[in-house]
Amino acid sequence: MRKPVVVGNWKMNLTLGQAVLLAREIRLRLGTYDSVEVGVCPPFPLITAVQAVLSDTKIGVGAQNMHYERNGAFTGEVSAEMLKSIGVKYVIIGHSERRKYFGETDEGVRKKLGTALDYGFVPILCVGETLEEREAGKENDVVVKQMESALEGFSSTHLHNLIIAYEPVWAIGTGKTATPETAQSMHSIIREFLMKKFGASFGYSIRIQYGGSVRPENISGLMVKEDIDGALVGGDSLNGERFAEIVMRSGTAKGGK
Ligand code: PEP
Repeated sequence: MRKPVVVGNWKMNLTLGQAVLLAREIRLRLGTYDSVEVGVCPPFPLITAVQAVLSDTKIGVGAQNMHYERNGAFTGEVSAEMLKSIGVKYVIIGHSERRKYFGETDEGVRKKLGTALDYGFVPILCVGETLEEREAGKENDVVVKQMESALEGFSSTHLHNLIIAYEPVWAIGTGKTATPETAQSMHSIIREFLMKKFGASFGYSIRIQYGGSVRPENISGLMVKEDIDGALVGGDSLNGERFAEIVMRSGTAKGGK
Protein backbone atom coordinates (compact mmCIF):
# COMPACT_ATOMS: atom_id res chain seq x y z
CA MET A 1 0.00 0.00 0.00
CA ARG A 2 1.23 3.46 -0.87
CA LYS A 3 0.73 5.98 1.92
CA PRO A 4 -0.93 9.13 0.55
CA VAL A 5 1.37 12.16 0.64
CA VAL A 6 0.30 15.80 0.51
CA VAL A 7 2.93 18.53 0.40
CA GLY A 8 2.45 22.30 0.45
CA ASN A 9 4.65 24.44 -1.78
CA TRP A 10 4.62 27.91 -0.24
CA LYS A 11 6.57 29.35 -3.19
CA MET A 12 7.93 32.90 -2.67
CA ASN A 13 5.35 33.89 -0.08
CA LEU A 14 5.15 34.85 3.62
CA THR A 15 7.34 36.70 6.10
CA LEU A 16 8.86 35.05 9.16
CA GLY A 17 5.91 35.98 11.38
CA GLN A 18 3.33 34.82 8.84
CA ALA A 19 5.16 31.54 8.27
CA VAL A 20 5.25 30.78 11.99
CA LEU A 21 1.53 31.51 12.31
CA LEU A 22 0.71 29.26 9.35
CA ALA A 23 2.93 26.47 10.71
CA ARG A 24 1.19 26.72 14.08
CA GLU A 25 -2.19 26.43 12.47
CA ILE A 26 -1.09 23.40 10.44
CA ARG A 27 0.36 21.85 13.60
CA LEU A 28 -2.92 22.38 15.44
CA ARG A 29 -5.02 20.87 12.66
CA LEU A 30 -2.72 18.10 11.42
CA GLY A 31 -0.09 17.52 14.09
CA THR A 32 -1.53 14.16 15.14
CA TYR A 33 -3.21 13.18 11.86
CA ASP A 34 -1.71 9.96 10.62
CA SER A 35 -3.63 8.73 7.56
CA VAL A 36 -1.62 10.93 5.20
CA GLU A 37 2.07 11.86 5.09
CA VAL A 38 2.21 15.65 5.24
CA GLY A 39 4.95 18.08 4.30
CA VAL A 40 5.45 21.81 3.80
CA CYS A 41 8.10 23.55 1.72
CA PRO A 42 8.65 27.13 2.91
CA PRO A 43 11.10 29.55 1.27
CA PHE A 44 14.73 28.93 2.38
CA PRO A 45 15.03 31.67 5.06
CA LEU A 46 11.90 30.45 6.83
CA ILE A 47 12.69 26.73 6.93
CA THR A 48 14.28 26.55 10.39
CA ALA A 49 11.55 28.61 12.04
CA VAL A 50 8.87 26.36 10.55
CA GLN A 51 10.81 23.25 11.61
CA ALA A 52 10.89 24.58 15.18
CA VAL A 53 7.10 24.84 15.23
CA LEU A 54 6.60 21.37 13.72
CA SER A 55 9.44 19.58 15.53
CA ASP A 56 7.29 17.37 17.73
CA THR A 57 5.01 16.26 14.87
CA LYS A 58 5.44 13.94 11.89
CA ILE A 59 4.92 16.82 9.47
CA GLY A 60 8.04 17.02 7.30
CA VAL A 61 9.68 20.22 6.15
CA GLY A 62 11.15 20.52 2.68
CA ALA A 63 12.90 22.92 0.32
CA GLN A 64 11.59 24.18 -3.01
CA ASN A 65 14.91 23.85 -4.86
CA MET A 66 18.64 23.32 -4.35
CA HIS A 67 21.87 23.36 -6.34
CA TYR A 68 23.42 20.12 -7.56
CA GLU A 69 26.99 21.02 -6.54
CA ARG A 70 28.20 20.24 -3.04
CA ASN A 71 29.46 23.79 -2.37
CA GLY A 72 31.52 26.51 -4.03
CA ALA A 73 31.34 29.72 -6.02
CA PHE A 74 27.64 29.76 -6.90
CA THR A 75 26.46 33.08 -5.51
CA GLY A 76 22.87 33.05 -4.35
CA GLU A 77 22.47 29.28 -4.43
CA VAL A 78 21.70 26.78 -1.66
CA SER A 79 23.38 23.37 -1.46
CA ALA A 80 22.19 19.92 -0.48
CA GLU A 81 24.82 19.93 2.26
CA MET A 82 23.27 23.04 3.83
CA LEU A 83 19.78 21.61 3.64
CA LYS A 84 20.96 18.32 5.13
CA SER A 85 22.65 20.14 8.01
CA ILE A 86 19.34 21.73 9.02
CA GLY A 87 17.33 18.50 8.73
CA VAL A 88 15.27 19.11 5.60
CA LYS A 89 13.24 16.08 4.45
CA TYR A 90 11.83 16.85 0.97
CA VAL A 91 13.30 18.73 -1.96
CA ILE A 92 11.10 19.80 -4.87
CA ILE A 93 13.01 19.31 -8.12
CA GLY A 94 12.18 20.61 -11.57
CA HIS A 95 9.06 22.62 -10.67
CA SER A 96 7.67 24.17 -13.86
CA GLU A 97 8.26 27.67 -12.45
CA ARG A 98 11.98 26.80 -12.10
CA ARG A 99 12.01 25.44 -15.64
CA LYS A 100 10.17 28.48 -17.01
CA TYR A 101 11.67 31.43 -15.12
CA PHE A 102 15.13 30.12 -14.18
CA GLY A 103 16.06 28.16 -17.29
CA GLU A 104 16.17 24.81 -15.54
CA THR A 105 16.88 22.09 -18.11
CA ASP A 106 16.21 18.35 -18.12
CA GLU A 107 19.94 17.87 -17.64
CA GLY A 108 19.99 20.19 -14.60
CA VAL A 109 16.97 18.39 -13.17
CA ARG A 110 18.76 15.03 -13.52
CA LYS A 111 21.85 16.37 -11.73
CA LYS A 112 19.77 17.81 -8.90
CA LEU A 113 17.92 14.53 -8.54
CA GLY A 114 21.24 12.68 -8.24
CA THR A 115 22.48 15.04 -5.55
CA ALA A 116 19.17 14.86 -3.66
CA LEU A 117 19.33 11.05 -3.67
CA ASP A 118 22.98 11.03 -2.58
CA TYR A 119 22.05 13.15 0.43
CA GLY A 120 19.06 11.03 1.35
CA PHE A 121 16.32 13.57 0.73
CA VAL A 122 12.87 12.61 -0.47
CA PRO A 123 12.91 14.20 -3.93
CA ILE A 124 9.64 15.42 -5.38
CA LEU A 125 10.28 15.34 -9.12
CA CYS A 126 7.86 17.58 -11.04
CA VAL A 127 6.82 16.79 -14.60
CA GLY A 128 4.01 18.14 -16.74
CA GLU A 129 3.07 19.52 -20.12
CA THR A 130 2.16 23.04 -21.20
CA LEU A 131 -1.19 23.97 -22.71
CA GLU A 132 0.34 24.19 -26.20
CA GLU A 133 1.81 20.72 -25.83
CA ARG A 134 -1.54 19.30 -24.72
CA GLU A 135 -3.41 21.08 -27.52
CA ALA A 136 -0.93 19.57 -29.97
CA GLY A 137 -1.66 16.10 -28.54
CA LYS A 138 1.92 15.74 -27.31
CA GLU A 139 1.30 15.58 -23.56
CA ASN A 140 2.14 11.89 -23.10
CA ASP A 141 5.37 12.15 -25.09
CA VAL A 142 6.43 15.31 -23.24
CA VAL A 143 5.91 13.80 -19.80
CA VAL A 144 7.56 10.49 -20.69
CA LYS A 145 10.54 12.36 -22.13
CA GLN A 146 10.86 14.42 -18.92
CA MET A 147 10.78 11.21 -16.90
CA GLU A 148 13.29 9.44 -19.15
CA SER A 149 15.70 12.30 -19.01
CA ALA A 150 15.42 12.91 -15.25
CA LEU A 151 15.78 9.23 -14.32
CA GLU A 152 18.49 8.25 -16.80
CA GLY A 153 21.34 6.37 -15.17
CA PHE A 154 19.70 5.74 -11.77
CA SER A 155 18.85 2.34 -10.32
CA SER A 156 15.67 1.42 -8.48
CA THR A 157 17.67 1.08 -5.24
CA HIS A 158 18.91 4.63 -5.64
CA LEU A 159 15.41 5.90 -6.39
CA HIS A 160 13.45 4.16 -3.66
CA ASN A 161 12.49 7.44 -1.90
CA LEU A 162 11.29 9.15 -5.05
CA ILE A 163 7.95 10.97 -5.31
CA ILE A 164 6.73 12.11 -8.73
CA ALA A 165 4.45 15.15 -9.00
CA TYR A 166 2.43 15.33 -12.20
CA GLU A 167 1.71 19.02 -12.58
CA PRO A 168 0.18 20.08 -15.89
CA VAL A 169 1.55 23.60 -16.35
CA TRP A 170 -1.84 24.89 -17.52
CA ALA A 171 -3.36 23.89 -14.18
CA ILE A 172 -0.83 25.54 -11.88
CA GLY A 173 -2.16 28.67 -10.22
CA THR A 174 -4.90 29.02 -12.85
CA GLY A 175 -7.91 27.52 -11.06
CA LYS A 176 -8.19 25.02 -13.95
CA THR A 177 -7.69 21.63 -12.32
CA ALA A 178 -7.23 18.58 -14.52
CA THR A 179 -10.29 16.35 -14.35
CA PRO A 180 -9.76 13.20 -12.27
CA GLU A 181 -9.88 11.19 -15.52
CA THR A 182 -7.25 13.34 -17.25
CA ALA A 183 -4.97 13.19 -14.22
CA GLN A 184 -5.47 9.43 -13.74
CA SER A 185 -4.68 8.80 -17.39
CA MET A 186 -1.29 10.55 -17.08
CA HIS A 187 -0.57 8.96 -13.69
CA SER A 188 -1.09 5.53 -15.17
CA ILE A 189 1.28 6.37 -18.04
CA ILE A 190 3.88 7.51 -15.50
CA ARG A 191 3.46 4.33 -13.46
CA GLU A 192 3.69 2.12 -16.55
CA PHE A 193 6.90 3.91 -17.50
CA LEU A 194 8.36 3.27 -14.03
CA MET A 195 7.31 -0.38 -14.10
CA LYS A 196 8.84 -0.94 -17.52
CA LYS A 197 12.10 0.79 -16.69
CA PHE A 198 12.64 -0.35 -13.10
CA GLY A 199 10.38 -3.35 -12.56
CA ALA A 200 6.77 -3.87 -11.53
CA SER A 201 7.20 -3.78 -7.77
CA PHE A 202 9.24 -0.58 -7.90
CA GLY A 203 6.72 1.09 -10.22
CA TYR A 204 3.87 0.00 -8.00
CA SER A 205 5.56 1.38 -4.86
CA ILE A 206 6.29 4.90 -6.12
CA ARG A 207 3.90 7.63 -5.07
CA ILE A 208 2.61 9.95 -7.78
CA GLN A 209 1.12 13.26 -6.65
CA TYR A 210 -1.15 15.47 -8.71
CA GLY A 211 -0.54 19.22 -8.63
CA GLY A 212 -2.43 22.09 -10.23
CA SER A 213 -5.16 24.13 -8.51
CA VAL A 214 -5.89 21.47 -5.91
CA ARG A 215 -8.65 22.62 -3.56
CA PRO A 216 -10.72 21.04 -0.78
CA GLU A 217 -13.58 21.03 -3.32
CA ASN A 218 -11.77 18.93 -5.94
CA ILE A 219 -9.33 16.76 -4.00
CA SER A 220 -11.67 13.84 -3.22
CA GLY A 221 -12.52 13.22 -6.88
CA LEU A 222 -8.81 13.12 -7.71
CA MET A 223 -7.75 10.98 -4.77
CA VAL A 224 -10.24 8.19 -5.39
CA LYS A 225 -8.38 7.43 -8.61
CA GLU A 226 -6.17 4.39 -8.49
CA ASP A 227 -2.84 5.97 -9.41
CA ILE A 228 -3.24 9.32 -7.64
CA ASP A 229 -1.39 9.03 -4.35
CA GLY A 230 -1.41 12.58 -3.09
CA ALA A 231 -1.09 16.22 -4.03
CA LEU A 232 1.44 18.99 -4.36
CA VAL A 233 -0.49 22.08 -3.33
CA GLY A 234 0.49 25.67 -4.09
CA GLY A 235 -2.10 28.40 -3.45
CA ASP A 236 -4.27 26.56 -0.94
CA SER A 237 -1.25 25.47 1.12
CA LEU A 238 -1.02 29.08 2.33
CA ASN A 239 -4.33 28.72 4.15
CA GLY A 240 -4.07 26.38 7.13
CA GLU A 241 -7.74 25.48 7.20
CA ARG A 242 -7.95 24.71 3.48
CA PHE A 243 -4.66 22.83 3.46
CA ALA A 244 -5.81 20.68 6.39
CA GLU A 245 -9.10 19.99 4.58
CA ILE A 246 -7.16 18.86 1.50
CA VAL A 247 -5.04 16.53 3.63
CA MET A 248 -7.97 15.04 5.54
CA ARG A 249 -10.16 14.59 2.45
CA SER A 250 -7.19 12.84 0.80
CA GLY A 251 -7.03 10.44 3.72
CA THR A 252 -10.75 9.77 3.62
CA ALA A 253 -10.73 9.18 -0.14
CA LYS A 254 -8.09 6.50 0.35
CA GLY A 255 -10.06 4.82 3.11
CA GLY A 256 -8.27 6.36 6.09
CA LYS A 257 -9.76 8.32 8.98
C1 PEP B 1 2.39 24.20 -7.48
O1 PEP B 1 2.97 25.26 -7.52
O2 PEP B 1 3.04 23.15 -7.35
C2 PEP B 1 0.94 24.19 -7.57
C3 PEP B 1 0.33 23.07 -7.81
O3 PEP B 1 0.30 25.40 -7.42
P1 PEP B 1 -1.31 25.65 -7.31
O4 PEP B 1 -1.83 24.66 -6.31
O5 PEP B 1 -1.43 27.06 -6.82
O6 PEP B 1 -1.85 25.45 -8.66
